Amino acid sequence: MGRGFNHRHWPQNGSTGANWPPVRVGRVAAHFVSRFRSALLHNGRCRMHRPACPMPAKVTMVSPSPYDDRSSVARFSRGPGAGSQDVRVRLTERGVAIEGVDGEAPLIWPYGALTIAEPLSAQSIDALLSYSYQPGAALFVPDKIFARALMEHAPQLTLRARRMRSARPWFWAAGVAGAVVAGIWLSGFSPANALARMLPDKAREMLGDQVVASMTNGRATCVAPAGTAALDAMTAKLSAAAGTGQRFKVVVANWEVLNAFATPGERIVLTRGLIEAAKSPDEVAGVLAHEMGHGIELHPETGIVRGIGLAAATEIVLGGAGGLANIGLLLTQMSYSREAEREADRHALSILKGAQVSTDGLLSFFDRVAKMEENDGGTGIGVLRSHPQTEERRAVVAAAERYAATPALDAADWEALQSICTVTEGAETVPSAPPSPRPSKPLPGETDT
Ligand SMILES: [Zn+2]
Repeated sequence: MGRGFNHRHWPQNGSTGANWPPVRVGRVAAHFVSRFRSALLHNGRCRMHRPACPMPAKVTMVSPSPYDDRSSVARFSRGPGAGSQDVRVRLTERGVAIEGVDGEAPLIWPYGALTIAEPLSAQSIDALLSYSYQPGAALFVPDKIFARALMEHAPQLTLRARRMRSARPWFWAAGVAGAVVAGIWLSGFSPANALARMLPDKAREMLGDQVVASMTNGRATCVAPAGTAALDAMTAKLSAAAGTGQRFKVVVANWEVLNAFATPGERIVLTRGLIEAAKSPDEVAGVLAHEMGHGIELHPETGIVRGIGLAAATEIVLGGAGGLANIGLLLTQMSYSREAEREADRHALSILKGAQVSTDGLLSFFDRVAKMEENDGGTGIGVLRSHPQTEERRAVVAAAERYAATPALDAADWEALQSICTVTEGAETVPSAPPSPRPSKPLPGETDT
């Protein structure tokens, strides 16, 4: 025996624990006892059957990870409403460095204060990070090498650490989970909204096309040239007033129900029923501005991310589009929160003001909805069903500041818009007479105008 193993080399100063356990044994037994000590000293990582365990080093240096000289492309958002931008990230001694945010000096997010949507493991392909001291901000790094290197720097983000935590007494785990959830909600940070903001424009447009197709489901779109020109002019005027640089694409579906909805990718669908029921171009402009408000806040994208889950949405962020076959089904389960409606109304008021269009149009639209609802007994068609927010939202619009306004369209253009469905395009596969049966839950947009 004795090959390679050398218990004589143990330091004898006692501080390393080399004299423990105290033993007085024969030569063969001493061999195993020393190995046992060695195993203890190496925190169990040195196996008993290895010929020799290395001596404990004075200081354990973490060897520089191969990632350390690299940087990765990532998407960064300062928070809801702030949009997202391409940045580069780097792992530094102090933390994750985020370079290229608004042309400013790199932000440093120290490792210890990072949190992550999905814990890291050897299988991780990306990391969606947030930072305790910058609530609402999010960083999405679609780089598996980054994700794996980050595990070394921020072990608390690993699946292993999460399992260890969950193995502690239930009240401790529950407390941590509760604090995390409370922190997320108090800070207004929504992982779904943060991820929605990181969807590439191409993916959002693709989602939007799918949603428009499944919601108009076989209905033609209205494309009379003069009406289309009038609608485009109104859209351009309101978009300019929104000032977000988003390019809204608005279509009218040849659908008799009164409805309007925003979809991902800045697409907005208005129905023929809505155009025909409106008594002025300002009413249409008011509804359109409200839908733009949903688009600005990415409410449709957020709803979809929530519906399909963060993992599937991450797939889309990474360029895949699998698993979205049932998006039409998903949409039947979506509706906006009251807060989302308030946000969209706030944007609408500001857009209308910027475009110098009177808010009276939006107001009379609310009144029309309320009246039709009343006549209908609140049980019937689409957007006119029970709509508890209408009164409160009407009051907010009614209280809005007054300013000098001009009609959203002149008389000729308004007439053209009202005739937009005299020319249609695309397959008309559903009978246009009775409204289709209602799904059990409202479609997006149906509770939202
Ligand atoms: Zn709405």
